[in-house]
Amino acid sequence: MSNQVDRLLASLLPRSCVFCGQDGGEQACCEGCRSDLPWLTNPCRSCGIPLSSGYPHDYCGNCRVPTGRQYRMLSALAYEYPLDRIIAGAKFRQRLDFSAVLGELLAMYLCSQGRWMSVDLPDAIVPVPLHRRRWAARGFNQAAEIAAPVARQLGLSLRLDACHRVRHTSEQTTLSGSARRRNLVGAFAASVDLAGLRIAVVDDVLTTGATALAVATALKAAGARDTQIWTVARTV
Ligand SMILES: [Zn+2]
Ligand SMILES: [Zn+2]
Repeated sequence: MSNQVDRLLASLLPRSCVFCGQDGGEQACCEGCRSDLPWLTNPCRSCGIPLSSGYPHDYCGNCRVPTGRQYRMLSALAYEYPLDRIIAGAKFRQRLDFSAVLGELLAMYLCSQGRWMSVDLPDAIVPVPLHRRRWAARGFNQAAEIAAPVARQLGLSLRLDACHRVRHTSEQTTLSGSARRRNLVGAFAASVDLAGLRIAVVDDVLTTGATALAVATALKAAGARDTQIWTVARTV
């Protein structure tokens, strides 16, 4: 069945919570599950790691001294149960309804960062692209499926055309951080002129950050003036 038909059916059927299977009302994540999720509250304004409550600064100890970090990172949730299950289902079992709820959770989190989002809101969202060969095999790009509800809810333009994967790279999951970075050198290129635009790169999970950083670097080379990295989850 085509993705369009899946989406149409999903919009017509009552939504059950993707986490517990109970009736979620209008939502694909019920209120109980939503409040139980491992939200990363009080994030460092630069690297996004959660700061303990009562911590007196906007930046963590690492980021308060200049680190040369170029891109601000923000992740909504810790990459642990039950997020790992939903993210794997979105990617490998073609559960577009899972991608949609992940995007909704990320949008909800970003909106809750109101104080910063009002000054840091980008002009456009760019999902981490898949190589066309992997896209053809899978039939969709889960980062784009996640980015769509984020763009919609924040009123930002979704730029699926802004960046493409130049090289097909081996699966990243088995590689160490430095091997990931080597694997990704030159893997992405911007497809359009992005002069002066502020952009948020969206992906499902941040582990070493190598993939999102490689995309952000390609966007910067095309003129993007400020790039952030937003992910649904991160390893903490
Ligand atoms: Zn639930
Ligand atoms: Zn930090």
